[in-house]
Amino acid sequence: MAVGDRPKDAPPGGGYALTTLEAMIAWGRKYSIYPFTFATACCGIEVMGAFGTHYDLSRFGAEVVRFSPRQADMLLVAGTVNYKMAPVLVRIYEQMLEPKWVVAMGACASSGGFYNNYSVLQGIDKIIPVDVYIPGCPPNPEGIIDAVVILQKMMETGAPRASERWPIKI
Ligand code: SF4
Repeated sequence: MAVGDRPKDAPPGGGYALTTLEAMIAWGRKYSIYPFTFATACCGIEVMGAFGTHYDLSRFGAEVVRFSPRQADMLLVAGTVNYKMAPVLVRIYEQMLEPKWVVAMGACASSGGFYNNYSVLQGIDKIIPVDVYIPGCPPNPEGIIDAVVILQKMMETGAPRASERWPIKI
């Protein structure tokens, strides 16, 4: 059979694709991420940059920001989270439906940053599971794009989410 010839048992009317339902759902999910941004400080400005025309997060299918956590599957925490705000963040996380992913953007969300004091949570992973950390103070919009690409790979491969390992067992 020459290259390009159709096999004899090919269905009439065109080609066909072989896949699994799980792979098809994962393919659709990775190109339709719905972010919910929890921005409390300066990192939020870089988030706006990521959604703007220059960086254009829509190229990755992740530009439709939801304003209800019930409609989002990616929680992007950008900025300092203090102890008074912590229960609000937990409530928002719990309102999101499964499957969901969490991104800690910047030094403050990841570890408290340089606010090592009595009022600032030293990393949101003290209260909710985190899938991707973006380093920097502030990270630039490329960091957010990198995080989205990592999440897409997790969705595509079915890599375990942080919530599946939560609470952390040692
Ligand atoms: S990591 Fe830096 S830029 Fe981001 S919220 Fe903290 S202080 Fe601001």
